[in-house]
Amino acid sequence: MAAPDQFLADTVITQPACRGRFAPSPTGPLHLGSVVAALASFLDARKAGGTWLVRMEDLDPPREVAGAASAILHTLERLGLCWDETVVYQSHRHEAYREALDKLEKNGLLYQCRCSRLQLAQQAIYPGTCRKHLPNPEQDSAIRCLVPATTFAFTDRLQGYCQQQLAAEVGDFIVRRKDRRFAYQLAVVVDDGWQAITDVVRGCDLLDSTPRQLYLQQQLGLPEPRYMHIPVIINSEGQKLGKQQFARPIDAAHASAVLWTSLNHLLQAPDLQLQQEHPSIILEWAVQHWQPEKLKGSRQIREQL
Ligand code: GLU
Repeated sequence: MAAPDQFLADTVITQPACRGRFAPSPTGPLHLGSVVAALASFLDARKAGGTWLVRMEDLDPPREVAGAASAILHTLERLGLCWDETVVYQSHRHEAYREALDKLEKNGLLYQCRCSRLQLAQQAIYPGTCRKHLPNPEQDSAIRCLVPATTFAFTDRLQGYCQQQLAAEVGDFIVRRKDRRFAYQLAVVVDDGWQAITDVVRGCDLLDSTPRQLYLQQQLGLPEPRYMHIPVIINSEGQKLGKQQFARPIDAAHASAVLWTSLNHLLQAPDLQLQQEHPSIILEWAVQHWQPEKLKGSRQIREQL
């Protein structure tokens, strides 16, 4: 039998080291909203002495803009947001997503859906029309995942307790589209698990997706990361800054100003004179002073020009 102190030493439960990630979709250059998300996840990982990764969510070629992926990486580098491991491209990960679909299929959770957009136009929640159809491999169809009438809950580090009843509020959701592309919900869960991400830091616009992701994690036997959903930046008309709103691309030639403005939007109250400093000095200050709790409970922050 082990001596008591030896026994204790053997059973100390070590927390996995923090691993964060930024997962842009290459649908255009970075804008203020995406830089703020990148910076928050970077600061959070660095403050914890952890690892920070970049994953390119390039699963939807028709929505992608040629050259956007490399422009995003170039901008991150100019800002001093340097990642630790090789950038993962989701377009190279189809095999892993196929395996995940096989597993869900074995759990009896998948079915083919042939409903057209028009048929579903009036439905807020998918009514389960195709649940009973026999699979027909000849016909192109989307693949949906059955959801249980269970409430999925988690405690977000900023937004507090969040819950969603999947059957009533979301419905069976698409995991592979009719054009055979894998859906975001599936790919993000597979990759967060594979990359051993412990801390997901991203915009509040994805808060509603999280219960679906918790459900897929359970079904695929993957660990649940901690979540922190930061406020999204909105413009003067109250719209989320996004590529759809033609948000101005940020100008990496003015890296210090961009970092300072982003810290200001993250309510970190950076000193005014920091604006004149080199990006590395600004980031050093920001890691040291990172206080995400300043954003507690806020879901939107107005863009300050
Ligand atoms: N690719 C998503 C976006 O650009 C982010 C996904 C995530 O962080 O889970 O908004």
